[in-house]
Amino acid sequence: MKTRLHSKTTRQEPLADLTGRLRKRSRRVTGPRQAILETLRQHAHPLTNKEIFAAMPKGNCDLATIYRSMHLLEEMGMVKRFHFGDGAARFELVSEGDDGHHHHLVCVRCSQIVEIEDCFPHELEEAIAARNGFKAITHKLEFFGVCPRCQSP
Ligand SMILES: [Zn+2]
Ligand SMILES: [Zn+2]
Repeated sequence: MKTRLHSKTTRQEPLADLTGRLRKRSRRVTGPRQAILETLRQHAHPLTNKEIFAAMPKGNCDLATIYRSMHLLEEMGMVKRFHFGDGAARFELVSEGDDGHHHHLVCVRCSQIVEIEDCFPHELEEAIAARNGFKAITHKLEFFGVCPRCQSP
């Protein structure tokens, strides 16, 4: 199975490119928005709103601003929302021109997150769609397990 750890070098765009995407869409690059993008850039895994808030420079904005900003960034397709079954939405930057479709393998003990590039074969989705009369099928899928570090006693 082909997997790789979240890597900042391959995935993360420079902050200037990210804020440029906001400007292009006639969105103001407010202090909090810029700080949120920078925080997501610096973290190698999806973050919850509260984690983003905790990682941001103090006094920059309140939690409600982060909720609103994440909503906007998600609407613009700049971040993607993931759910790992603990009730907290997590957000990750989406590179420009990428649909952000990928999966995660999450350690149930230490919450380490590994990015998985494998995906269902397209034919399988086509078959599921055809069998049920659906069109434009997509999927969400996350994997859970115990990581190598947590396996050693
Ligand atoms: Zn672990
Ligand atoms: Zn997939």
